[in-house]
Amino acid sequence: MNKFRLNINGKEVTGVAGQTILEVARENDIFIPTLCYDERTKIYGSCGLCMCEVEGNPKLCKACATEIAPGMVIRTNTERVIESRKTNLELLLSNHTGDCRPPCVLACPGQTDCQGYVGLIANGEYEKALELIKDKIPLPAALGRVCPHPCEEACRRGLIDEPISIQQLKRFAADVDLEGEVFVPECEEDTGKSVAIIGGGPMGLSAAYFLRQMGHDVTIFESMPNAGGMLRYGIPEYRLPKAVLDEEIATIESMGVEIITNTKVGVDIPFETVRSDYDAVLLGIGAWVSTGVGCKGEDAEGVIGGIDFLRRVVRNEEIGMGRKVAIVGGGNTAMDACRTAVRLGAEEVYNIYRRTKDEMPADRLEIEEGEEEGVIFKNLTNPLEIVKDENGHVKQVVLQVMELGEPDASGRRRPIEKKGSEFELPVDAVIMSLGTTPNPLIKSTTKGLEVNKKGGIIVNEDGLTSRQGVYAGGDAVTGAATVILAMGAGKLGAKSIDEYLSNK
Ligand code: FAD
Repeated sequence: MNKFRLNINGKEVTGVAGQTILEVARENDIFIPTLCYDERTKIYGSCGLCMCEVEGNPKLCKACATEIAPGMVIRTNTERVIESRKTNLELLLSNHTGDCRPPCVLACPGQTDCQGYVGLIANGEYEKALELIKDKIPLPAALGRVCPHPCEEACRRGLIDEPISIQQLKRFAADVDLEGEVFVPECEEDTGKSVAIIGGGPMGLSAAYFLRQMGHDVTIFESMPNAGGMLRYGIPEYRLPKAVLDEEIATIESMGVEIITNTKVGVDIPFETVRSDYDAVLLGIGAWVSTGVGCKGEDAEGVIGGIDFLRRVVRNEEIGMGRKVAIVGGGNTAMDACRTAVRLGAEEVYNIYRRTKDEMPADRLEIEEGEEEGVIFKNLTNPLEIVKDENGHVKQVVLQVMELGEPDASGRRRPIEKKGSEFELPVDAVIMSLGTTPNPLIKSTTKGLEVNKKGGIIVNEDGLTSRQGVYAGGDAVTGAATVILAMGAGKLGAKSIDEYLSNK
């Protein structure tokens, strides 16, 4: 290798062609500051802290990106260099808020201060931890049981061994609170403004909780006999005991939020009446219409949507499921339906999913526990036809065997039919758990409300719909999503409505 000489800060050093000033300086224990240099990656941008002077060059150079040359004379600590580094650092810091927040907080759609409350719990300060959690989350005991915890995916502790169990710690702090005198946040003086929230799911409850703290009068209209939305009528009891949910909803009511149940807006009371009776309206109607696969025979008796099945179970309604049940779909609702069918005593519970287990969107734990409980996974199969008996009731489902092809737009490998491989599976019921959409009723009964192709209500970044003073959030906007997303949307909706009502 052809070595040549150069000079850094008066010290004679050697280097080889292709090396940068920074590399040679490091080899010779000459310190040049940098925040971004990593020898394993190419240099695209840079922090600008490794500036140095090269004799004969009127401009300052970046040491990380400037290759050495024979006889180069470099100075790394002149006043001009130091001044330039200061300016570059100030520029970096002027726009530097996000990076200073931990990845767990950034990954949480509710922006909960995970790092803060985990630290307080570690110090035994459970009450303070709960207050910090409740600054962002109105139903922490419920959420602590069901959250898919994106915070843990991002947790930096996972780089060493395992992520911190943030979800379980939240649940712990919330359960401790429910055992004693429950924390109730203070509400500001009454503003004289009123808000109607349509839908008492996590989105509506979250918005109500924050709007009351801001001093507004809040009424929730809920079509079902109890508030809670999918927390009550979707997620099964074995994952989220309803007594826990009841306690947390009671806390919100104790703040002065009125919940009017058994009242479907658009049926029992016109939307326009609600709009004219209140200063602002927030729509949180969720996504309660099950979608099917569109196969022949789907209208047979004994075919039911996943959320409809789970809701009937919660309401103790007659289901007539029979002994053998096929649940179609690979998400969490499908897993809840499978595991609920097992608990109801079905002898054979099949899960039908057109990809492999690895591609199933359901939580890993749910799949594993379903398997342990006896769910029979028929992966790489898709319903082709539902065959009826002479009474129009499900008799069997014809399944098409699939194989995986090239990745599709979702990044997952596309399932392709394996021709001639169809087979019949005798079943007494088929539960379609493929997805849900918002109820079109709200569009048809609300003048001027814009929705997208999937029926989701269109909102701007503040949660404002196409109608003035009418906001929306949660599953009704995004389509079926998660509780934490819905709660985050509730907080945003509350903030936007508060700004609207106070002309901010
Ligand atoms: P919803 O919870 O659906 O609440 C909407 C409310 O509006 C309902 O109470 C409904 O009765 C009411 N309503 C509708 N129309 C009207 C009307 N016209 N007038 C008055 N009231 C009306 N998420 C997770 O994070 N973790 C999980 O483990 C999880 N598991 C799930 C399991 C199942 C089976 C299902 C179906 C969903 C699950 N989810 C889970 C998703 C989560 O429950 C939803 O994303 C969340 O509940 C959405 O909240 P929301 O308030 O927007 O809507």
